[in-house]
Amino acid sequence: MHDDRTLVEARLKRVLEERIRPAVYPESVPLTVSVWTAPGEPVPVAEGLAAPRSPIAVGDAWGAPWSTSWLTVAGTVPESWAGRTVEALIDLGFDANMPGFQCEGLVYRPDGSPVKGLNPQNQWVRIAAPAAGGEPVLLHVEAAANPVILDYHPFLPTELGDKETAGDKPQYRLARMDLAVFDETVWQLVLDLEVLGELMAELPADGARRWELLRAVERALDTIDLQDVNGTAAAARSHLVEVLAAPAAPSAHRIGAIGHAHIDSAWLWPLRETVRKVARTAANMTALLEDEPDFLYTMSQAQQFAWIKEHRPEVYARVKKAVADGRFVPAGGMWVESDTNMPSSEAMARQFVHGKRFFLAEFGIENEEAWLPDTFGFTGGLPQIIRNAGSKWLLTQKISWSQINRFPHHTFLWEGIDGTRIFTHFPPVDTYNCSMKGSEIAHAARNFKDKGVARHSLAPTGWGDGGGGTTREMVGKAARLRDLEGSAAVRWQRPAEFFAEAEAEYPKPPVWVGELYLELHRATLTSQARTKQGNRRSENLLREAELWCATAALRTGLAYPYEQLDRIWKTVLLHQFHDILPGSSIAWVHREAEATYAGLAAELEELIGAAQRALAGDPAGGRELVFNGAPHGRSAVPAGGAAVAVAGPGNCAVTAREGGGFVLDNGLLRVVVDGDGLVVSSVDAASGREAVAPGARANLLQLHPDFPNMWDAWDVDQFYRNTVTDLLAADEVAVHAEGPAEVAVRVARSFGSSTVTQTLTLRAGSGRLDIDTEVDWHEAEKFLKLAFPLDVHTERYAAETQFGHQFRPTHTNTSWDAAKFEACNHRFVHLAEPGWGVALATPSTYGHDVTRAVRAEDGGTTTTVRFSLLRAPRFPDPRTDQGRHRFRHSLVPGAEIGDAVREGYAVGLPERRVTGSAEAVRPLVELDQDALVVSAVKLADDGSGDLVVRVYESGGGRARGRLATSFALAAAVPCDLLERPWNGTRGEVVADGDGVRLALRPFELVTLRLTPAR
Ligand SMILES: [Zn+2]
Repeated sequence: MHDDRTLVEARLKRVLEERIRPAVYPESVPLTVSVWTAPGEPVPVAEGLAAPRSPIAVGDAWGAPWSTSWLTVAGTVPESWAGRTVEALIDLGFDANMPGFQCEGLVYRPDGSPVKGLNPQNQWVRIAAPAAGGEPVLLHVEAAANPVILDYHPFLPTELGDKETAGDKPQYRLARMDLAVFDETVWQLVLDLEVLGELMAELPADGARRWELLRAVERALDTIDLQDVNGTAAAARSHLVEVLAAPAAPSAHRIGAIGHAHIDSAWLWPLRETVRKVARTAANMTALLEDEPDFLYTMSQAQQFAWIKEHRPEVYARVKKAVADGRFVPAGGMWVESDTNMPSSEAMARQFVHGKRFFLAEFGIENEEAWLPDTFGFTGGLPQIIRNAGSKWLLTQKISWSQINRFPHHTFLWEGIDGTRIFTHFPPVDTYNCSMKGSEIAHAARNFKDKGVARHSLAPTGWGDGGGGTTREMVGKAARLRDLEGSAAVRWQRPAEFFAEAEAEYPKPPVWVGELYLELHRATLTSQARTKQGNRRSENLLREAELWCATAALRTGLAYPYEQLDRIWKTVLLHQFHDILPGSSIAWVHREAEATYAGLAAELEELIGAAQRALAGDPAGGRELVFNGAPHGRSAVPAGGAAVAVAGPGNCAVTAREGGGFVLDNGLLRVVVDGDGLVVSSVDAASGREAVAPGARANLLQLHPDFPNMWDAWDVDQFYRNTVTDLLAADEVAVHAEGPAEVAVRVARSFGSSTVTQTLTLRAGSGRLDIDTEVDWHEAEKFLKLAFPLDVHTERYAAETQFGHQFRPTHTNTSWDAAKFEACNHRFVHLAEPGWGVALATPSTYGHDVTRAVRAEDGGTTTTVRFSLLRAPRFPDPRTDQGRHRFRHSLVPGAEIGDAVREGYAVGLPERRVTGSAEAVRPLVELDQDALVVSAVKLADDGSGDLVVRVYESGGGRARGRLATSFALAAAVPCDLLERPWNGTRGEVVADGDGVRLALRPFELVTLRLTPAR
């Protein structure tokens, strides 16, 4: 037989696009449209409905960037349409090639009740089925003119990302605004032909099934009268029944599809717009659930449910009902889909606490999967946190975005730094926006790496970010793919059911140990430095506020600010969303985030101050008390307590150095700063060992060009290192402080359009060189690093993460090692040879790199740690990070891992001084073992008055110790993160009088609920 395959395939394409698809709506009449544009920010629904309208017509421009227009559409169903299905088609000027990321609408009835959203691929509103004919139609549309930020020519700098710079040029033109007859038979024919045509394209050309499909499609096309598609569609469909009924192979891949819309809680739109995006999509999805009995939908992020509850209660009522019916499934159990690299131990824990608690309180549901499809890498600390939150599964697809290495599994056990293993699934469809295309379904089946031992994968299905979620077309296609020869088999499935099935079929999955590093978006550890510092400052202040408020509550009866802390935590957690904390949002988002963090800091300082004043007593007492919020004692002040300040004698000295520069010495550390303001020597007295590599200089600022190939705020590409400028020239190197308690040298430099001032300080009794760096940054597309070349020979280094640290290589042996050229630390990195090590601590820098070189002169190894201070990408915020910044870094030579942990806490939690009458404040709890670290002291969230203390083993070894309470203890119960009794602790927790004996395994965390005797 002659091969006419390509001819028939091309025929299908043209007939489908030009004749069949347009026949879905064979008749239409125009609607009349009128408009009112809100003068500023969005208004309440009642106000928008009541506002006076002016005429507007199809083709007219509307919508200044970020403005809201209230449209009213009115018409009458023609009498001749009686008995037909009638829909309104409302095209706000959509670009259907981009399913989201543009204008959107929410349709209301005249009484203010929401109908559904309007999105680029979801422009219909059902009016009547069947129509009576003659009925009036009146609908209102709240239309948001969100500008397109990420366009066909992506990553070009734009001023549209902030309403303050976006201007007022209309962004859209009204397109089709019609009442139309909907021909369901033609619509079904479109789906038949799409499913078969797309499947056909994935099948081998020498296979019989492909030709069977081709011939069936050809017969269907032959049957269609192109002048009467509506009259012949049913006959055409009859030729497709047989090929659609042929069942899938027994070995076919099984896809559990779940309706979904990945809605970024802020990104290329401000937080306030996400509130509306979520409502529109939830309105769509609750409507679709009513129309489609087999369909299931899942939505993550408790914050987004909370927004709907607060701002669109009518939509929330529909969501609640659908959740109760088991069809609208809350997923993930986190407050938002956060970043996981940067949030602190406690913040990562609280993401689950607040997320799960919301789902429990609102729906009585506790889900067991962590749902993070789009997060930029996963720390080795996360598995234990997931487990301690009462969950056991993880879903993400993001690692498929890695630039260099293909991850070897799709379903596996992921083992964290403490040994906790979490059953993890990466959907092989490689997207969280599956649309049921044949190419996606075939890719999932082909791509699945666990074939032969496992058969199930998950496919989050629907358009996110303003795409409106799953479409009725996707549901229609899924129905055809349920059991279809040549295809993977698709059915709607809840995430928990998928995981249970996948786990049951795969009893011995492979294991991946340690972090899931994303080989992309590495610059998100650095971009938008002020947002990152706001996060870290808030985390530190929350620690202090909980500690001192709990102490004051138990000691003085001061009311514990449960509701205020709850609200502040939720705000901090929201801003850890995976496009806010990573610095990848528009300028508007980061401008607001900085203001929000400033407000939180003021509130938390108030709380801390009030609690400390209550503990210190009458200021007339005149005693200056030093409060220590860190988990280790210092300057004779116990951790979590206060003591009267004692000024030591101090022995700091600074002397001029021959040839320029200065020598700083405090008896513990001797630091030599040269005439360029660089550190050429740092020797700790205990070991007498030099930390700075021979011939090298530390505290070196280095400037690189930084123009990645894509994703400016997200990415730094490896080639940035090829070009570097050392900032050597100093405008000034001078003594800044000179006293027994403290000596300091000040260094000023200028480069490009920027200036930097550094203060290098040595304090009495401290083995730490503190470097305070102030930058007035006015560069574009540059990367500023602070380098410490150290004389350390090691193949790996430790970087702090949640509840411990993770090791990374200092070399680039394999492509996996080389890909980690920019990585995350929390408060320290630590490098060591046996018997001696060095720590670099920082309260606010997350990004860093570590490299090694062997010196020609002496054959020794130089290991260089460089902190990533600032970048200057121009997309999506064209002025990212311009202006003043302040950073602090500390060099701690002679540090063991325990010293690194201690100094990491100390640099972020400075002492506070309060005048009062008390002689001291005894800590509520004290630990007698340094490796056991308290990460939180707080009152239980249930308001019982119980104290909750979270402790973890911080050194990576085993630790035994006793946690003593300074109050009479009635009961001590190990708990999960939600403060519920839990016996999942692997170490020992034994009540012991007014205390608890603990024996924890490496990096193990334990949450204790301590009930005071009353
Ligand atoms: Zn996302």
